[in-house]
Amino acid sequence: MSSSIPDERSLVLIKPDAVRRGLVGEIISRFERKGLRIDALEIRTLDGGFADQHYAEHVDKPFYPPLKTFMTSGPLVSLVLSGDQVIEVVRAMIGSTDGRRAAAGTIRGDLSLSNRENLVHASDSTDSAKREIALWFPTLG
Ligand code: ADP
Ligand code: MG
Repeated sequence: MSSSIPDERSLVLIKPDAVRRGLVGEIISRFERKGLRIDALEIRTLDGGFADQHYAEHVDKPFYPPLKTFMTSGPLVSLVLSGDQVIEVVRAMIGSTDGRRAAAGTIRGDLSLSNRENLVHASDSTDSAKREIALWFPTLG
């Protein structure tokens, strides 16, 4: 009988700015080198309705209309990562929201100079991970 706890999962987006800038490989490589597993991966271009669903908590905020335009501006890469405490680990790896202030060594801190075009999204809690994975990869077991 195994007593191991299944690894956690997180929904990560490599946003359209990262695809345009040719940073998909760099970003995925950081996650792989950390030891995280890729359980699902896809490239797609969002429509506005899907962006609204993904960012349900933000649709009424002043920064949302330009965020929606940005998120639907071109293809992005969606992936599900798994590993020990992956949600917290990935949030630490991406850095704080504003690329101008994110710590050096983080993805945003090293590669973004913007509060909006900050390269990546990652689930911020077990509840949001569950909701986001169900939205993006409904067939994932
Ligand atoms: P995070 O992606 O770090 O979890 P939030 O959930 O607060 O950040 O915001 C979602 C996304 O909205 C951010 O990643 C960023 O692209 C954009 N955003 C957040 N706050 C601002 C802001 N003040 N101005 C412009 N864009 C913002
Ligand atoms: Mg967030």
